[in-house]
Amino acid sequence: MTENKIDLLSKNEAELAEFFLSIGEPKYRAGQLFTQMHKGLSPEEITNFSAATKKKIAEKAFCHFPTVARKLVSALDGTVKYLFRLADGNCVESVVMRYEHGTTICISTQVGCRMGCRFCASTIDGKVRDLEPSELLGQIIVASKDLGERIDGIVMMGIGEPLDNYDNVIRFLHLVGEKNGVNIGYRHISLSTCGLVDKIYALAKENLPITLSISLHAADDDTRSEIMPINKRYPIGELLDACRDYFATTGRRLSFEYTLIAGKNDTPETAKKLADLLNSKLRSRSTTMPIHVNLIPVNEVKERDFTHSDKRAVARFAEILEKHGIRATVRRKLGADINASCGQLRRAEAKEGNV
Ligand code: SAH
Repeated sequence: MTENKIDLLSKNEAELAEFFLSIGEPKYRAGQLFTQMHKGLSPEEITNFSAATKKKIAEKAFCHFPTVARKLVSALDGTVKYLFRLADGNCVESVVMRYEHGTTICISTQVGCRMGCRFCASTIDGKVRDLEPSELLGQIIVASKDLGERIDGIVMMGIGEPLDNYDNVIRFLHLVGEKNGVNIGYRHISLSTCGLVDKIYALAKENLPITLSISLHAADDDTRSEIMPINKRYPIGELLDACRDYFATTGRRLSFEYTLIAGKNDTPETAKKLADLLNSKLRSRSTTMPIHVNLIPVNEVKERDFTHSDKRAVARFAEILEKHGIRATVRRKLGADINASCGQLRRAEAKEGNV
């Protein structure tokens, strides 16, 4: 039973020290526990804790790691996709990608999602629940232990909307940067959002210099509202104002995700409109904000009726953005043979009745 018990992996060292004092143990155990848990050991497995200490811990607290329900390894590029099972039986996905500059993990932040983007597989059955800080960390710790490799960077681009699980994500970001723990620098962490404007302003004030990625996907409000319902609450103008504020406050660069859908948002006129929009909203005499757009041909999801743009349309779109001073890259598709884009493995598992 975990009811009313303390979730140890969600706590920082100072909080663990308080916990140990509360069960009559010396507070230096906090450092030992923190370090070992972040290497993937539960308290029962820590050899320098006595049986009596372990018993006292287990009475008041728990430490759960996700288990590997499925693991797919791409024969093409070594990308690894995990389906992780959480302690309550729910599943989420993580993807480990290998780049020249290091190994990056894409983690999920919620079980399901309630944002309703029309092209996305993760949102089809809505949100089940938020992930705890320990469950965000657990994906990284277990993947790293399983692979026997250090993970250098994190992208929050898996299942869920990270800013819709704000407090847990912020706590996680503090924990993951700890020297004695996973220790991944903020410059190697990026958070992707569909555009919760109030939370972008809040994030700018947290003093966590992470990279913010905005899922834009359209150059005008009508199109964006049609494919991303969040746009009705926070239209493009307000979203880009928040982006300006994020850059002004943190000095950290932002990037924009733009999913190309054939016949919907991929014409040369749209590319020009997008360039004009970004230049006029984000660049003025007082700011020289670097703007980077990642172009992603939409990943076709069985339940959705969108088709990806062809190579020529993608190249033309990128060319027009570049011509107008906006850096554009076409996202390299990793793990194509294991369907590495998030949301689809969890759905398949749920349909087979295993979740
Ligand atoms: N909720 C966050 C993070 C998770 S989605 C966000 O919206 O940014 C990660 C990225 O994948 C987002 O840019 C999202 O719009 C994109 N995405 C979702 N479904 C996709 C699909 N079928 N094809 C291409 N990109 C997709």
